[in-house]
Formats: sequence, structure tokens, C-alpha cells
Amino acid sequence: MKKIAIIVGTRPEVIKLAPVYLELKKSKILKPILINTGQHREMVDQMLRWFGIKEDFNLKLMKINQTLPGLTAKVIEATYKVFEKIKPHLVMVEGDTATVMAASIAAFYLKIPVAHVEAGLRTNDIYNPFPEEMSRRLVSHLASVHFAPTENAVQNLKKENIKSNIFLTGNTVIDALLYTAKNLKIEKQLIASLPNFKKYRVILVTMHRRENFGSSHRAIAKTLIKILNNFPDTAVLLPLHLNPKVRNVIKPILKNHKRVFLIEPPGYVPFIYAMKNSYLIMSDSGGVQEEAPTLGKPVLVLRTNTERPEGIKAGSAKLVGINPEKIFKEASKLLTDKKAYRKMTHVKNPYGDGKAAKRIRKILEKQFMSMTLI
Ligand code: UDP
Repeated sequence: MKKIAIIVGTRPEVIKLAPVYLELKKSKILKPILINTGQHREMVDQMLRWFGIKEDFNLKLMKINQTLPGLTAKVIEATYKVFEKIKPHLVMVEGDTATVMAASIAAFYLKIPVAHVEAGLRTNDIYNPFPEEMSRRLVSHLASVHFAPTENAVQNLKKENIKSNIFLTGNTVIDALLYTAKNLKIEKQLIASLPNFKKYRVILVTMHRRENFGSSHRAIAKTLIKILNNFPDTAVLLPLHLNPKVRNVIKPILKNHKRVFLIEPPGYVPFIYAMKNSYLIMSDSGGVQEEAPTLGKPVLVLRTNTERPEGIKAGSAKLVGINPEKIFKEASKLLTDKKAYRKMTHVKNPYGDGKAAKRIRKILEKQFMSMTLI
């Protein structure tokens, strides 16, 4: 059996690699080994439980107020040691976190090939998103196999002179979403903490990007209050990210409004439930932009750029940035103009069809059989 060390550290990595792990489990020649760096502790455990997956290693690297260089150094060292011990034939990473970049460096130091899932996303601004844009660029040059979610991502890789082993697979986030939407079960207690979706048009908001910390988050929170005051049939549902740099800024502005529902991160399954029942989504999250078209929800992207232009082009998302006037204007339009709303909600998902993980398994099986990857 060829051992594939699958690395996860944060919530989106588990969501996007769980379908691949489960698919590789079915293989007769590949053996997945799950290594959790523990970059985000609580949010990762919830996800693993939902997908019925048990990690093989937990490196427990999360520390409160950890610095980026500190975390990066620890991930390189800790993953290097595990790789030395288990001797994987391939290391698989997904996306663009510190975990992804550091684990890829460790694999490279041991001359173990790296497979990168969700390869080729680019904003072409190395400081936005920070540090993700640089992480994914570095990983592209460390990796031997690139699973690109869209044609645009394939082209981005080619522009950087990466020529071989690029495979267009779709994004595995859609595999996870379709599985979850089919099995959606959430506790009554949790429903009670959410706004009444029949009574209000709910605006679901998520914010966590490092480059928006501080004044941008403050300005967005104030704009949400303005929207609520102008549209009395709306409510804001905002799962607070665990990072204190986010919650300490937006909580004081929003907590006293009676139509604001600030909740702890609800976990992936209730979050999908909330997305499905919301009227409109405002988010700086990458994964949310990819999921929303499958659920038929418009997204106002709270960022100045995005590495996911496909949704903007298809019409399911709009880049509104962090400018309060623009956010207010676009939200008002979607709350008043039915035609504009419909245009954003009836879009074919450009990110995938739910079969990406299967494609990845088949490609890897073929590569190992033909000894392209030893
Ligand atoms: N998500 C979740 N709970 C939340 C917010 C988001 O489970 O409170 C899910 C969401 O459905 C998506 C993923 O987490 O699949 C996105 O993660 P995040 O926004 O942290 O990271 P990004 O996608 O921006 O890298």
C-alpha cells in the first residue's frame, strides 16, 4: 500500500480534505494517514466528528496568541518528525494556511512528493490575503501534483511555469457540501439560538481575514447596524470567529441590537443549515463563496480582491470590499430589487460538481500504478 499523509490544521482544510480521505479509504492501493497539526483546535474536532474520521496523529500545536513565525517553525519541525517516522509515499495538503506551507517544506526537506489540493488560486497581491497568497504560491513550487478546482486555476499555474501534473478536478468543498446538505440534522437547542428564518430575512455574516482586522471590521459592523435600521424585516446572524482580534472589535458594536444574533461558531453542519435558510450572505470567507451558489444564495464579498473570480463572473457573488457605502448600497439593492436578487441566486456552481474527491483518488491510483510517483 502507498501511504498518503493527509495534513489538516484548520476548519476549511478538514472540510475540503475529508471527502478525499474517505475516498482514499476505498482504494486498494492507497492508504490515507491523517495528521492534524492542531492549528485550530475546537473547530477541527467538530468537523472530524461529523465526517466520522479519526486522526492518526494530533500534533497539538495550537497556543493562545501564537505568532505566525512561531507556528510555522513548529509545524515544519513537528511534521518533519512524523514524516520521518511513518515514511509516507506522498504528502497531501489543501489550500493556503501556515500548516499547508510548513508541512510542504518539511516534506520537501525529506524529498517526499507533495500533492496540493485546491491549487492555483491567486489574487496576484502578495499581501492580500495575507499570508495566504504567498503560502499557496510557495506550495505550488514545492508540490509535484496539483489538483486545480477550476480552469482559471489551471491557467494561473501555467502562467507560473508549472507545467506538469496539473489536473482539473473541481473543488472538494462541493463534495462535502452535498454530503452534508443530504444528511442535515441539527439540534433543537441550536435552532433556538438562531433568528426565526420565517419572521426575518436573515443576513448571514462571517468575518475573519487578517487584513481586515481592526478598522475594517469596525466599519463593516457599523454598516450592518445601518442596514438593520433601514430594513426592519431583516436580522443579522453572525457566528463569531474564535480569534479575539475579530470578536473584541465587532462584539461591542453589535451586541445590543435586538435583531443581531451573535453566536459561537456553530460548527459546519448548523452553518450549512443557516446558509440554506438565509436570505443573503456577507462574508470574507473563501469556502463560503464556493458553497453559496449550490445553495442558491447571493454573497457580498467583504474583501477588496478575491482569488475566486469564477463566482463573480458567474454572477453568484459581488465584490463589495470594505467600503461602508458600497456594502450598504449593494445590500439595499438585494433587499429591494427582486430581479437583481434572482439574478444572483440562479447560477450554476462554477466551483465543482461534487465528484472532485473521486477524480483525485483515480488520478493518484493511476500515477502510482504507472510509477510516476514513487
Ligand atoms: N464554516 C463553518 N462555520 C462557521 C463559518 C464557516 O463551518 O461558523 C465553514 C464554511 O461552510 C466553509 C468553511 O467553514 O466550508 C470556510 O472556512 P473559513 O471561512 O474559516 O476559511 P476560508 O474558506 O476563508 O479559508
